[in-house]
Amino acid sequence: MRKKTPEASDFSPIINISLFDEEPESYEFDQTNSEWVREILKEIENDFFDEELPKGEGKIETNLEIKRLVNNIYGEHLIVRGEAKGQYYAACVRCLDPSFQEFECDFRVAFINSRYEKEPEYEEITHIFADGEDVELYFHEKGKANVKEMLHEQVYMHLEPLPLHAEDCKGLCGQCGSNLNKYNCGHN
Ligand SMILES: [Zn+2]
Ligand SMILES: [Zn+2]
Repeated sequence: MRKKTPEASDFSPIINISLFDEEPESYEFDQTNSEWVREILKEIENDFFDEELPKGEGKIETNLEIKRLVNNIYGEHLIVRGEAKGQYYAACVRCLDPSFQEFECDFRVAFINSRYEKEPEYEEITHIFADGEDVELYFHEKGKANVKEMLHEQVYMHLEPLPLHAEDCKGLCGQCGSNLNKYNCGHN
């Protein structure tokens, strides 16, 4: 008998892997249908963004394909394949003006039991071969896989660490603080 998996709207990001099986389930989340996905966007905006910048224009969309496998090597494990993209405002690192930034990433990960984490052969490993390909390694705790934490990490790896409002931003004057894109204060 097939177990029922949750709808996108009541999908808990710390998922009980036993709800899944080898038949993949697909989900589409964005900041409007999912609280936990909205929280990731908020964290991005707060990290790159102070209160004076425009809010509410950020977007995040993600598709996840989730399945659970059981084998002799990894025991019960969860495979998640997906992609995420979005946009957010960030302060330009040179002139501090708001700048529109985008990100896009895809990921293939496996959550295996956290007991493997303590084994010496897994100490230095970030990828394993599972479900026919090389996937990034995550751990589930007693059958609970934190998909939110994984997505957060995947997205953050693909954010521009030093956002610029434009490639040729002139920045702020080191002497008087004027925005040199808008005003020539004459200092050098
Ligand atoms: Zn700038
Ligand atoms: Zn100046």
